[in-house]
Amino acid sequence: MRTSPNIIVTGTPGVGKTTHCEALAERTGLRHVSVNQVVKDEGCHEGWDEEYLSWIVDEDKLLDALEDEAKAGGCIIDWHACDLFPESWIDLVVVLRVDSTTLYDRLSARKYPEVKLQENIDSEIMEVLLQEARDSYDERIVIELTSNTTDDMETNVDRIEAWVTQWKKDNAPDGQE
Ligand code: ADP
Repeated sequence: MRTSPNIIVTGTPGVGKTTHCEALAERTGLRHVSVNQVVKDEGCHEGWDEEYLSWIVDEDKLLDALEDEAKAGGCIIDWHACDLFPESWIDLVVVLRVDSTTLYDRLSARKYPEVKLQENIDSEIMEVLLQEARDSYDERIVIELTSNTTDDMETNVDRIEAWVTQWKKDNAPDGQE
């Protein structure tokens, strides 16, 4: 039994996953698990894709690398996919959403190649990550939050922090609630 929840923060690149996860880790004491970093540091990939400028992820190796941490609980998993994590690991799935014009500006600022930029904008408009989350987890644990402005972010972090506090109360071992 976990005494701290595991949360996935997902969404199209540029929606604000890392920014949210860092703020949440600071506020809740949960650990920010940047999957990109794990893929790189633990070699959970089959090389670098030059066109998309990203790692070609070996999902089996990645799950092995994350298993102990996930079982211990208290992870805020930061990644642009969510369907590979076993349902038993996950307590909440946060899908961040952003307006396409705002996303365009954020990805342009990152100097994304045109093909990758356009694909990500299409993916955001088509709600690909939201659908993936709803298909992979019980809909009751999937929440969609807007991440256009810093006010949105503050509201989101407040809301998730309150959820973490409640989860810990509800799941406290007997006699410790
Ligand atoms: P992701 O991890 O999803 O790729 P980041 O957290 O790296 O996204 O955010 C991408 C850029 O957008 C950063 O410059 C960040 O400061 C900005 N940003 C993210 N979310 C917001 C928001 N809600 N309001 C304003 N700027 C944001």
